[in-house]
Amino acid sequence: MRTRSCRADVSTNDPQRLITCVHEAAHGVAFVRYGLPFERIVVYRDASLMDEHGYVHSPRHRAPSLQRSIVLLAGPVAEAKLLGRPTIEVLQHTTDHAMAMAALRHDRRYTLETAIGAAQTLVEMHWQNIVSLAHALFKREVLSHAEVLFNLKLPR
Ligand SMILES: [Zn+2]
Repeated sequence: MRTRSCRADVSTNDPQRLITCVHEAAHGVAFVRYGLPFERIVVYRDASLMDEHGYVHSPRHRAPSLQRSIVLLAGPVAEAKLLGRPTIEVLQHTTDHAMAMAALRHDRRYTLETAIGAAQTLVEMHWQNIVSLAHALFKREVLSHAEVLFNLKLPR
């Protein structure tokens, strides 16, 4: 769920921040899509000195492994779509990828490829919502669960 910094150059109005916002917004939309609890989404305004740029703060939840892995993969998948890069290139070396693999490790019904495909479908279907939420995050830095639902025009 957490975005590790892998790009050195981060300044206040860096495109990196918008990328992070899209990444975290996609996690958020996936949480909402599956009705999973979370408290807030944070994207730091100045992440230049931090080793992570943003995160979705959520309590422990016991979502099925496929859902859990889709929620994890949605971030990098949306990032890849925004950047026009192959998903697998963006996925590699992310903690999201490692955690998605861990989530599926004991579930032989689904492969990682299945989960990536489902995350891609989710991101495509909800792209406008992801972009809208990303822009709100860019402006606000922190959005509560209620504010996320408001942004997505869903009842709170
Ligand atoms: Zn992530």
